[in-house]
Amino acid sequence: MMVLKFGGTSVGSPGAIERVIGILKDSAHAGRAGVVVVSAFSGVTDALIEAGRTAAQGRDYAAKLSALEKRHVECVRHFLSGAEGEAAVREIGRAFQKLELLLHSVLILKELSARTLDCVMGFGERLCAELLARVFSAKGVPADYLDSRLVIRTDEQFGKAKVLQEETARLIKGHFAGRTRLQIAAGFIGSTADGAAATLGRGGSDLSAAIYGAALGVEEIEIWTDVDGIMTADPKLVKNAFTIERLSYAEAMELSHFGAKVLHAPTVQPALDANIPIRIRNVFRPEGTGTLISSQRDVQGEREAQHEHEAQCAREVQHEHEAQQGREVQHEHEVQHEREVQHEHDVLPVKGISSIGDITLVLVQGTGMVGVAGFSARLFSALSRENISVILYTQASSEYSICFAVMPEDGGRAAAAVNAEFEREIATGSLDLPLVERDKAVIAVVGSKMESTAGISGKVFYALGRNGVNVDAIAQGSSEINISLVVAAKDVSKALNSVHEAFFLSGTRSVNLFLVGLGLIGGTLLDQIARQREVLAEKYKIHINIAGLANSKKMLFAPPQAGSALPLVREGRFTTSGINPAEAVQLLEGGAAFNSAEFITLMKAANLPNTAFCDCTASEEVASHYEDILRSSIPVVTPNKKANSGSLDYYKRLTSYSQDRGIPYLYEVTVCAGLPVISTLRDLHLSGDTVRRIEGVFSGTLSFIFNNFDGSKPFSALVREAKAKGYTEPDPRDDLNAMDAARKALILARECGMPLEFADVRIDPILPEACFAAKSVEAFFTELEKSDAGFEQRRAAAAADGKMLRYIAIVEAGSARLSLRAEPEGSPFRSLVDADNIVVITSDRYVKLPMVVKGPGAGAEVTAGAVFSDIVRIARTLV
Ligand code: ADP
Ligand code: ASP
Ligand code: MG
Repeated sequence: MMVLKFGGTSVGSPGAIERVIGILKDSAHAGRAGVVVVSAFSGVTDALIEAGRTAAQGRDYAAKLSALEKRHVECVRHFLSGAEGEAAVREIGRAFQKLELLLHSVLILKELSARTLDCVMGFGERLCAELLARVFSAKGVPADYLDSRLVIRTDEQFGKAKVLQEETARLIKGHFAGRTRLQIAAGFIGSTADGAAATLGRGGSDLSAAIYGAALGVEEIEIWTDVDGIMTADPKLVKNAFTIERLSYAEAMELSHFGAKVLHAPTVQPALDANIPIRIRNVFRPEGTGTLISSQRDVQGEREAQHEHEAQCAREVQHEHEAQQGREVQHEHEVQHEREVQHEHDVLPVKGISSIGDITLVLVQGTGMVGVAGFSARLFSALSRENISVILYTQASSEYSICFAVMPEDGGRAAAAVNAEFEREIATGSLDLPLVERDKAVIAVVGSKMESTAGISGKVFYALGRNGVNVDAIAQGSSEINISLVVAAKDVSKALNSVHEAFFLSGTRSVNLFLVGLGLIGGTLLDQIARQREVLAEKYKIHINIAGLANSKKMLFAPPQAGSALPLVREGRFTTSGINPAEAVQLLEGGAAFNSAEFITLMKAANLPNTAFCDCTASEEVASHYEDILRSSIPVVTPNKKANSGSLDYYKRLTSYSQDRGIPYLYEVTVCAGLPVISTLRDLHLSGDTVRRIEGVFSGTLSFIFNNFDGSKPFSALVREAKAKGYTEPDPRDDLNAMDAARKALILARECGMPLEFADVRIDPILPEACFAAKSVEAFFTELEKSDAGFEQRRAAAAADGKMLRYIAIVEAGSARLSLRAEPEGSPFRSLVDADNIVVITSDRYVKLPMVVKGPGAGAEVTAGAVFSDIVRIARTLV
């Protein structure tokens, strides 16, 4: 025999009920199901509680009641017609009359005791079970209604009544003796010895199923719900969660105790005591096998998984020989991948992560506790007298403080209980007043093999720390099957997602990217991401989700997925979403007006795991937000030089915060675009080398002009040519003033530890003052022509000496300077072509021959490409 339990969503509509009938009729269940336990239609328990409370406040509850009645009547009419239908509708009418009487008394008395509320709440399950017994019988599944109040005996803790197991078992067995027809039992309810209805706690229909199953000694208890089983995390919060095939009773208990509401926690105990497996299955996908909870899990499950894995390896070798049957092999590969993923999961030490989204933390501390025997005993007795259950408890080894978590509704009472119990200690100052911290959440990482695996907590804390999630309290049971953490409630989704990714998406890294600036670099970056995204995801398991985007006018954010802060959807195994980069520019037109402060506020408020900020603007304003962003534990990637070449103090704050906290601040692209200059300097430094001098040509424009200044054309003509080729800013003076090159020199100087401000960088002007005074670009060219003779004279003089002119920056001995130099033969600066940049590094190790880094120092593709690789670098720092 089997017990099948169907939850609220599984019976909440005619369509859902049709599915249940289908399940009962299929060969796996036909004739095997002895009991079907049902919940109330989805939402009905909440509605009944609401109606009760409304009545207790003396307000009219009639509308609420008639809406509920209508819902049940409509359902009956969908399935039953004629006399059968009328009888069922009358039955519903009678139930609602009783309910109405009950609520009327509540309204008159303006009082709703737990006992009365239980009676009100119980109507949902009773109505549903009675109605379904009629519908099933009419649809070819003969069944009787079983009023669980007759057979499930409880104590008098209304609202959370305990089942009196022995008596209940006796009553259930008595009821079933000699009966063969399927019984449709109301879940969630029982009755006390004096016949009052009592409920078993919210979500308690699962427990009802286990109670029936245990009493009848069934082969399996099947809990049918709206998800594929117990998953690695709540799929409403973690989109990439996947189904756990097997769990031990203990693991299932821990997961459900800490918030996996897919299974009501107390359900496990009766099944465990009777050694009956529980299977969680999905009514929407009845062909799935769901999750099996049993004592077999550890040994048998793993052995099977291991066999499966070995068999797969053998099959793969076989398939190598049959490679010509391409499609078949492909299919088999996919199937095998799925199996391997499952195998990987089976041998993982962590099975799942659950959370309770709203708890209250109570902190008790003071010297009065140190070394005092029986302190905890007094504390727990005080809480127990108040019937407050403690979700989690930690005590520092100093014994100076104890901290425990309770449900929010118990927070005030818990503090009051502590106050009362320790009144004397508080009065004498040896104990502080208890501190109540609200809006907290518990995350529990569960797995029975954690105890034999080192590094689990390290992984958890790294994922949280990396995402700026502060941990308020930690508890690890001595069984080591569960590590529980208390975090701020606002961080729960981020915490779940980042820890989930660290454990379950083997090697998968996803970055939620917020990109500002869609000029040449930002635009090209988007194109590159669009082209490379699939390869990154498939080959390297790196997912770049564009979560927010802005140009100088508009900003746009990816819509959050239902219930989840993470813009990831699960389709197959992994599908990234966020803003599609291929459509981003067009979508942005419909965005809101851009404001950098607001963009950053919204990015922080989204509180997504693995967020990264990328600034492709040249804006000082945007750069001024970096510190705030890094302090929010969000890495920054930027080709924008404004921050690092601004005040020395700001540069130091950014780089030292990044270094101290391990939040990446990546700005390789600020100097010579994609050329590896900053990383090279850093590597030299880290490996103990000392950089003595850096010389370089950091401006592509100046490089082009002087590389081609061979006397065949006047200087001004060369500048015109550079402009025509797109090598200059619209006003070439913005390049010829050497400011940009000076900023790069300054950044390199700072990277070498020189405490320089921008004003300390000496720039020997290339152009005469008059050129800068010219009112227009044309006027500038006219002015520049006047200097042609002077430039030619300098060039010819150098040439006569066998030298060539180059505009070179030099960073040495605590100073930085840019000047026009005549370079002799053999100088590395003479080997430049076109608009190349070059950096020549002389260090203690590179002394005879300096190290030379040379190549294009500008250009959209190389620059954006380097920004892109920094973004990927961030993804790879995620463990
Ligand atoms: P029912 O009405 O069938 O009893 P519940 O709503 O009580 O269903 O439980 C199912 C829900 O539990 C799912 O829709 C899911 O959002 C939630 N849930 C929370 N944690 C988990 C988890 N680890 N695995 C699966 N579902 C979970
Ligand atoms: N209907 C009850 C509730 O909503 C019991 C259940 O669904 O298991 O809590
Ligand atoms: Mg439930």
